[in-house]
Amino acid sequence: MPEGNVVVVGAGVVGLTTAFTLASEGFDVSVIDPFPGRGASFVAAGMIAPLTEAVHGEESLTELCAQGAALWPSFAKRLSEYSELDCGLEQTGTLVVAADNNDREILRSRIPTPALGTLGATWATAAEVRALEPLLASSVRGGFLATSDFQVDNRRLLASLMRALSNLQVSVVQSKVLSILSDNNQVKGVVTEDGVHHASHVVLCPGYDVARIEGLPTADRPVIRPVKGQILRLFQHDPLLRLRRTVRAMIAGSSIYLVPRESGQFVIGATVEEQGTSRVPTGGAILALLRDACLTVPSVAEAELLETGTGLRPATIDNAPIIGPSLLGGLIYAVGHYRHGVLLGPITAQSIAEIVRTGEVPVSIAPFQPGRFQRNG
Ligand SMILES: Cc1cc2nc3c(=O)[nH]c(=O)nc-3n(C[C@H](O)[C@H](O)[C@H](O)COP(=O)(O)OP(=O)(O)OC[C@H]3O[C@@H](n4cnc5c(N)ncnc54)[C@H](O)[C@@H]3O)c2cc1C
Repeated sequence: MPEGNVVVVGAGVVGLTTAFTLASEGFDVSVIDPFPGRGASFVAAGMIAPLTEAVHGEESLTELCAQGAALWPSFAKRLSEYSELDCGLEQTGTLVVAADNNDREILRSRIPTPALGTLGATWATAAEVRALEPLLASSVRGGFLATSDFQVDNRRLLASLMRALSNLQVSVVQSKVLSILSDNNQVKGVVTEDGVHHASHVVLCPGYDVARIEGLPTADRPVIRPVKGQILRLFQHDPLLRLRRTVRAMIAGSSIYLVPRESGQFVIGATVEEQGTSRVPTGGAILALLRDACLTVPSVAEAELLETGTGLRPATIDNAPIIGPSLLGGLIYAVGHYRHGVLLGPITAQSIAEIVRTGEVPVSIAPFQPGRFQRNG
């Protein structure tokens, strides 16, 4: 077993993938979270979408997402070996469609043809996209199939990670971390509501709430804002009315997605709202999500509404995550994964394991180092 022990703060997808990766490499790991697996990761849609969630101007993040997505199949396989559970990885691709001619132009401008070409995709006619997904509305005006983008069932993933940790004898302590314990610029552990946990390394993955933890160095203390997302979960009883793959639609200039699960459940999402820490579900958001989903796939109107959910995405100033060592020795950050926490779970975990093992920062996460905002004023 490698020397020292690691405390992971936060049991969302980022903390759990990190704890699992470290423990499966032989590290002595424990996880601390008052509500394991119930943060934004529980609410998320589970898309692994390096292309269809890409934003102009965020090229280094897009590159990290492409590398992160590539790790998913082997990560899911390894996780199932340790957990003896299937995390619901589906690689049937994502069908992106335009609701009308205007939306088709918006889509084409956001994802230009050369970008599609590099991913082996081409623009398809309305008839071609309906051949792939017969449940689409007759008003849909073409689109493309993004084979690069797929999905995992985020709730099955969290359950698999928790089971794998249990099988690896990792303790998950239900408590809140109040502060970082340090001496002589070196981490010594954490102070929780219930006592002190000593550690040679602390990995901080508490989602949007990192600012409440005391004892972080001012020079790299992460500034994270919560970005509210409202999302719906439904069940389609009739197997003939179930989507074959994830569908994303551009509709009246807005984007919506429908993510089907193997069970017949599906997810409709999501709003992106700068509302502080409010988690209140609103009628207007639910109305807009259902309206746009029904206009894209009319049979949604027949589905049973199971749940309205609200989550807080942890976002940084540049919308890219903070992954890397703090100036405080032994402290490592993995926060601010915003829209990509599920996608980036395995690459974040792999990078952190390398930092703990070697002290070196992997090239892939070099642009995402802590303190970059403070250094840039
Ligand atoms: C509606 C919606 C849809 C989304 N869809 C997708 C998607 O399709 N694909 C994708 O990749 N991403 C998606 N995301 C984003 C994704 O959910 C987040 O990026 C991801 O969940 C962040 O994971 P995390 O582990 O950092 O945070 P969280 O999942 O929020 O977990 C943080 C954990 O830390 C714990 N914690 C907080 N403070 C403390 C403390 N002081 N001590 C101990 N523990 C603490 C919390 O209890 C919580 O369990 C979506 C988000 C939303 C809201």
